[in-house]
Amino acid sequence: MYLQREKLVDSLKNYGVIKSDLVEKAMKAVPREEFLPEEVKSQAYFDHPLPIGEGQTISAPHMVAIIAEKLDLQKGMKILEIGTGFGYNAAVIAEIVGEDGHVFSIDRIDSLAEIAIDNLKRTGYDKNVTVIIGDGTLGLPSETPFARIYVTAGAPKIPETLKEQLEIEGKLIIPVGTTNYNQELIMIEKIDEDQFKSKSLGGVAFVPLIGEHGW
Ligand code: SAM
Repeated sequence: MYLQREKLVDSLKNYGVIKSDLVEKAMKAVPREEFLPEEVKSQAYFDHPLPIGEGQTISAPHMVAIIAEKLDLQKGMKILEIGTGFGYNAAVIAEIVGEDGHVFSIDRIDSLAEIAIDNLKRTGYDKNVTVIIGDGTLGLPSETPFARIYVTAGAPKIPETLKEQLEIEGKLIIPVGTTNYNQELIMIEKIDEDQFKSKSLGGVAFVPLIGEHGW
């Protein structure tokens, strides 16, 4: 399937979605088919979301690429992902931050998180991805602060908990809007302890973020 992966990544590059070598290399390295249920593996390199069970989805490759580009990642960064799903997005980010970096990823549905743990182990990304089962809207206070936080489910508003857990100059990306797959992707930058810059990265369609500071 490598040729299909290479073709998809090259087309995302031609469309200007992938801009950096780091994101291109990571998306060429991570086998998306290893993070999919058997019945949809053959669609691994179509650029669309796919069902993973429990009413949840794996994000489309272009969305993973947009988030990775906008996060402006560097080797060695400590990252928090809310919404592990089957672990694909976490593996791409782990590939970018490298072995000196780390991705902590939280999912509220234990059956999905357990499959993600297996997928990450089989592909070797368990060394720098830790999956936690719980309510990601609370963040992960034991590991704060994070250089980057990204949320792959749509929130009613930006949880203050996540803003607090960012380091200074850290960035947070989160879809904010309604529960019916209609949100705006917002990027927050932490200027200092209580000053933030916010901008919209455009319209998106994610499953709802369910939890204490979600729906
Ligand atoms: N990041 C995944 C990928 O690799 O493409 C896609 C994740 S899927 C679009 C969104 C996930 O968010 C689901 O697995 C869902 O269970 C999870 N989720 C929803 N609310 C959550 C919460 N409060 N805490 C943690 N996970 C949550």
